[in-house]
Amino acid sequence: MMGTVVTFTIHGGEQQSNETAIRKAAEEMQRIEGLFTIYNEHDNPVKVFNRTPAGESVTLPPEIDALLRTSLEVQEQSNGAFDPALGELNKLWGFSQTEAPSSPPAADRIGQITRQLRNCIRPAGKTAWKRLNAHCQLDFGAIAKGYAIARGMRVLKENGVTNGMINAGGDIELTGSHGDRPWRIGIRHPRNRGEVIGTLMLEKNVSVVTSGDYERFYIFEGKRYHHILDPQSGMPAQNSQSATVIGKNGALVDAWSTALFVLGPKGLKMVEKYGMDALVVDRSGQLHMTEGCRSRLRQ
Ligand code: AMP
Ligand code: MG
Repeated sequence: MMGTVVTFTIHGGEQQSNETAIRKAAEEMQRIEGLFTIYNEHDNPVKVFNRTPAGESVTLPPEIDALLRTSLEVQEQSNGAFDPALGELNKLWGFSQTEAPSSPPAADRIGQITRQLRNCIRPAGKTAWKRLNAHCQLDFGAIAKGYAIARGMRVLKENGVTNGMINAGGDIELTGSHGDRPWRIGIRHPRNRGEVIGTLMLEKNVSVVTSGDYERFYIFEGKRYHHILDPQSGMPAQNSQSATVIGKNGALVDAWSTALFVLGPKGLKMVEKYGMDALVVDRSGQLHMTEGCRSRLRQ
């Protein structure tokens, strides 16, 4: 699901009740994917919002309203590095389509859309919102996966799991420990396939999410084009090769992993300010991290 393979690991407990817990957690995560995705063929309120004429208000279900509020908060706190209104721009780049693109779209088209996006989503009532122009389209791709793994973990716990991990293609939610030792989370080397830059030792309730330019990309005329866009230029962000955030709130951790990727090392202070830890591999391959991260990383 969510465009990746999701792995559930549970330490301890009974086989049968663990399997029931996993099935229910997977169902919950699939529900969330269906609710937020702007891809696949099923309709949902996010798609309704994106096709309602600009200026008209749309009432969103509480769950979508809440994640939109979180998204707008991160947008403000990150000085616009995170932007939940990049739907049309993302579609233009095409990285989420089944058929991967092989060359970048026309520069004037990118400029035309990008100029209209800043703060284009406005409140229009209690849980109602409107968009200011037709290029403005919601895309929760940078936050919904973190929200989904957090909700999935909640379901595991409600079903008796005390030591567990959900791994959605490297985006991780964990609880408890791996028996008598902490969970060990390898952070992928952004350039050397199969290698890690270090291992995080983590316990209790934590989310660990990585955004990387190696996840979805192509090389065109010697240059790398990937799926994380700088909302200012409308182009793939240039400051990082990967960004990993560690924190308690899965949705926030996911949103900040994307924001931090766009910001590069200068974003570490912001992440720290909001009570999270992080590490960034910058554009030249140098590793930067918060103090809290240093104490948990084995290299
Ligand atoms: P992630 O892998 O969590 O960094 O999310 C990347 C996905 O979020 C992309 O595939 C887009 O759908 C969307 N996205 C790309 N750039 C941004 C951005 N600057 N802010 C918010 N969402 C973005
Ligand atoms: Mg993200």
